Amino acid sequence: EKIFSGFTKTRQNLAVIDELLLYWNLAETDRVLDELEEALLVSDFGPRISMKIVESLRGDILAGKLKSGNEIKDALKKSVLELLNIKGRKTELQLGFRKPAVIMVVGVNGGGKTTSLGKLARRLKNEGVKILMAAGDTFRAAASEQLEVWAERTGSEIVTAEGEKVKAASVLSQAVKKGKEQGYDVVLCDTSGRLHTNYSLMEELIACKKAVAKVVPGAPNEILLVLDGTTGLNMLPQAREFNEVVGITGLILTKLDGSARGGCVVSVVDELGIPVKFVGVGEGVDDLQPFDAEAFVNAIFS
Ligand code: GDP
Repeated sequence: EKIFSGFTKTRQNLAVIDELLLYWNLAETDRVLDELEEALLVSDFGPRISMKIVESLRGDILAGKLKSGNEIKDALKKSVLELLNIKGRKTELQLGFRKPAVIMVVGVNGGGKTTSLGKLARRLKNEGVKILMAAGDTFRAAASEQLEVWAERTGSEIVTAEGEKVKAASVLSQAVKKGKEQGYDVVLCDTSGRLHTNYSLMEELIACKKAVAKVVPGAPNEILLVLDGTTGLNMLPQAREFNEVVGITGLILTKLDGSARGGCVVSVVDELGIPVKFVGVGEGVDDLQPFDAEAFVNAIFS
């Protein structure tokens, strides 16, 4: 599958584990687990998770629950899968029952927000969902035009700012009103992504949330944080800030077709306690896929 073709580096790093486990015997447990931990670390699982996984394996080995290299490998895969499955949080979009449902994408510039929104439009349209786009990045000059290209590509209607200095919240509010009046199922809202250290962006996002909730109670139904998968663990502080300020309901990890390190997917999910809903695996209109944790684990530990 194309979905995880980009993790060649991760696969290589983790392949060491197979060799280690092939020759595993009880007397060599410490050495083998040290090297296993190293393999997880170089794959960007981060120190905390790598240690957690290794210590749980050690406990099970010493308790006699794992008796062969194969059993250890299976336990390793199972513990990674458990880290990815967050209790009580669904990976499918939760769109509620009121129309229109509102989905906002947020994240720093260059992460793949606009592209992901375009791809999401295509996915939803393929499912027969009537969608409206809203160009809420009123800050970056080209952002609106870029979204218009995606609207054309996917045959979607779009609401853009009329005139200069129009506030993002007012564009989104206008779009959701139109969505409500004209019977759209989903309004897809783009937002600005200028530097996350710029406090006014966070204020703007809060204003956007309030503006759409005024039109449809309970909206936005989803606030998806778009993260560039190739930035590794560096994405964590920025993700935390977005989550604290606006409350993220799901993640879109982009550029997993590139040089993304598999372990950081696990770290981000575990650190934030937010599920990955979609992954971006290319620049094309069909390159957004629902996240399948089991397929992901099988791909990186293949
Ligand atoms: P934004 O500033 O967050 O809206 O980011 P854009 O949507 O403009 O994307 C920034 C760049 O990343 C563009 O060149 C996109 O084509 C590219 N991009 C976005 N998603 C993916 C992906 O999943 N894979 C690859 N290879 N490139 C992507």
